[in-house]
Amino acid sequence: SWLKLAARSIFCKIIAGQIPSMKLYEDDEVLAFLDIGPIAKRHALVIPKYHAAKLHELPDEHLGRLLPVAKRLALASGADEYNILQNNGRGAHQQVDHVHFHMIPKTSPKEGLI
Ligand code: 5GP
Repeated sequence: SWLKLAARSIFCKIIAGQIPSMKLYEDDEVLAFLDIGPIAKRHALVIPKYHAAKLHELPDEHLGRLLPVAKRLALASGADEYNILQNNGRGAHQQVDHVHFHMIPKTSPKEGLI
């Protein structure tokens, strides 16, 4: 429910529109937006609209759309060198307890769309 979603994580609040974000893509299952503390231009995050803190807690049906969206963001960034990263747990550098894939461009030889 909406209330459940609102209470769980900062990214749930972004999904619910309670915290603003620079949205890049959205559908019923997935949201992508610019990282607020980018380590490269066009650094983006892709998240499921389902609250799970870590990857192994996310049901497969909510996982399937994330990488295709990350791929499209990489394409749209114009970068031909980039990292797709996904951290789980503090010791693995996870700060926000809601599954997210980073798309971090390394080079931007072309003019990107985002
Ligand atoms: P992690 O270290 O958990 O893999 O990455 C979390 C990422 O979320 C960080 O890169 C951080 O800059 C980003 N982040 C944290 N809070 C917000 C927020 O409120 N809005 C946006 N757009 N990004 C956030």
